[in-house]
Amino acid sequence: MIDPSEVVTRVATIRSHIAELTDRSVSIVAVTKTFPVASWRVAADAGCDALGENYAQEVLAKVEEMAPPLPLHFIGALQSNKVRALAPHISLWQGVDRVSVIDEIARRAPAASVLLQVNTTGEESKSGVAPHDLDALHHSAQAAGLSVLGLMTLGPTDGSPSQMRDAFTSLRRLADERGLVECSMGMSGDYRLAVECGATMIRLGSVLFGQRSSSMG
Ligand SMILES: *Cc1c(COP(=O)(O)O)cnc(C)c1O
Repeated sequence: MIDPSEVVTRVATIRSHIAELTDRSVSIVAVTKTFPVASWRVAADAGCDALGENYAQEVLAKVEEMAPPLPLHFIGALQSNKVRALAPHISLWQGVDRVSVIDEIARRAPAASVLLQVNTTGEESKSGVAPHDLDALHHSAQAAGLSVLGLMTLGPTDGSPSQMRDAFTSLRRLADERGLVECSMGMSGDYRLAVECGATMIRLGSVLFGQRSSSMG
């Protein structure tokens, strides 16, 4: 991991890019998967808004070492059988895309805040609900008592700028049509475009901390 003072500089630069692109307030979720737990403190000291982790085992190992200094978001593919152990530590479940996961979150963390993940690119490799199934999932989450704050998506892998723009614009539109505020979209390589298209949360890993060495990432 790179020097903590460099992370401070990078966050400041990213904030200035955001300010040039939008008047919206955009949260920076520092994606710390595969980095040591010390990265949590570094992200907090650099002024990030939240922490994002992808792997249940890694979250559980890290919380043994340190209470999260910022709200902790689960951003990975979530298996129902991991929800119970994670629930005390997670303040926002991003990437919720199945009724089985909704039911388990509602059981283990009643009224929890969630983002529904939408597959905006049609790529089979990507998780997320198809846009035409979003209303059914949204109703399930509401009926289970969850607080649906918004939507989340992944941009196309190796997509052209216009394909990225299509994905991000469609997520913003799907959220607006449903009166949802939050759009979590944009990663290190595409966050500026996502912000231009209406992101309210960007999930940044390598642009803050350097390349992940582990193959897990
Ligand atoms: C790893 C990951 C990120 C961060 O990726 P970078 O390209 O390192 O910024 C963002 N969102 C999700 C869902 C991820 O899995």
